[in-house]
Amino acid sequence: MKRPLEWQIATVSAIKPETANVKTLTLTLPAWLPHRAGQHYDVRLSAPDGYQAQRSYSIASAPERMGEIDLTVERLEDGEVSSYLDDVLVVGDQLEVRGPIGGYFVWEVAQGGPLLLIAGGSGIVPLMAMLRHRAAAGASVSTRLLYSSRTHTDVIYRDELETLRAASTGLEVFHTFTRTQPAGWRGYARRIDTPMLQEVIQPLGPTPLTYICGPTLFVETAANGLAQLGVPASQIRTERFGPTAP
Ligand SMILES: Cc1cc2nc3c(=O)[nH]c(=O)nc-3n(C[C@H](O)[C@H](O)[C@H](O)COP(=O)(O)OP(=O)(O)OC[C@H]3O[C@@H](n4cnc5c(N)ncnc54)[C@H](O)[C@@H]3O)c2cc1C
Repeated sequence: MKRPLEWQIATVSAIKPETANVKTLTLTLPAWLPHRAGQHYDVRLSAPDGYQAQRSYSIASAPERMGEIDLTVERLEDGEVSSYLDDVLVVGDQLEVRGPIGGYFVWEVAQGGPLLLIAGGSGIVPLMAMLRHRAAAGASVSTRLLYSSRTHTDVIYRDELETLRAASTGLEVFHTFTRTQPAGWRGYARRIDTPMLQEVIQPLGPTPLTYICGPTLFVETAANGLAQLGVPASQIRTERFGPTAP
């Protein structure tokens, strides 16, 4: 049996556009291994001259799905790996991957809650795996998602999040749009700050189990805000994707 740190050749079995610059790749794995929500895979690209580039991508799909995984990739301007994955790759192509990796930024139903999930941009990906796992397990643990996007059309998994919210017990979803808002929008319209965090966490009590994922500055702002509100550091887990804030 393959181990998580051995490379294997996955086949791209589906590609789904999520937003103008985000796609979900479904990969079929010859040596599929069970994963926990929040874990990631490494992807390695190799050029004919031997040059290699390697990046990490969170698993978007629920652990309950077997044999294949979804990765959701945001194409960055001049991004070496993300632009290849989103612009060049087609169904049937092969991709070198290894995983699942990571044991800290993970959530399983047995860990309970209440659960606070805070996402900036593509930082929603591992949190979506947690929400999909929560739904697949039929859990009703109190959960609040605060999700920061530039605009309404940049929201990844928009319809599925609404479906999950409407169908699940105890799940609430809060969007904030930092650049432009749809006509008539009455929700948050600014970057995440401490008053916003206070409003969102209040019904969860003082010590929610918290997962924050997104660009580095975003994660630091959210984690510092929660610390100011008295959430113990031991309750906060963070994952940083990159340098800029949405
Ligand atoms: C554990 C982990 C999980 C991750 N999961 C995901 C995921 O699910 N989906 C996803 O899209 N990405 C994810 N990332 C980020 C991903 O690994 C790459 O960093 C990202 O795709 C950029 O790689 P690139 O080769 O396209 O860009 P590069 O060529 O490395 O960088 C291009 C430019 O973009 C800047 N940059 C690099 N990363 C980011 C970023 N995240 N945001 C803004 N600017 C950046 C660089 O400074 C540079 O200026 C994850 C990162 C980690 C560490």
